Amino acid sequence: MKEQYRQMLDRASSKTGETSRFFKKIKKMNSAELDRLFLERHIRYSEEIDCLECANCCRGTGPLIRERDISRLSRSLSMKPRDFTAAYLQTDDEGDLIFRELPCPFIAGNNFCIVYEDRPAACREYPHTDRQKIGKYLGPTLKNYSICPIVYLVVEDLKKAIP
Ligand code: SF4
Ligand code: SF4
Repeated sequence: MKEQYRQMLDRASSKTGETSRFFKKIKKMNSAELDRLFLERHIRYSEEIDCLECANCCRGTGPLIRERDISRLSRSLSMKPRDFTAAYLQTDDEGDLIFRELPCPFIAGNNFCIVYEDRPAACREYPHTDRQKIGKYLGPTLKNYSICPIVYLVVEDLKKAIP
């Protein structure tokens, strides 16, 4: 990972208490306004950060895998869905399907995703800072704050906009 991104995530880890208090405050805001503030910054910082210089989500936290993801991925790999599931997936403590191992088995050495066109929906949607009703998703966003440089920049900028 690019050193600059690593430093952002180190700063995020040291500021989770402050950020948790900030999230408690903004949770009370108007939902549509909060979505707008997040979305603006999501667009700006997604353009600024180069995911190929990072790949921390693919290496450190796996996506949830849905049935539709299994159909698409197994087709793309010319496997039967049952064989794909046996080879790559396991069930977590909450009963959700996740990859058996991290880093993700589909990440190449240069950080390219070898199943990019058919990647799971959760990979497409990560880091979720553009989702509607983001106020209900601040728990996972706090976790992603110290995983994803985009989330770190979005949140730090929001702290300046909402003192
Ligand atoms: S989405 Fe975030 S964690 Fe994933 S590669 Fe991009 S910057 Fe890194
Ligand atoms: S499927 Fe692709 S985008 Fe998703 S975690 Fe694996 S390498 Fe990353």
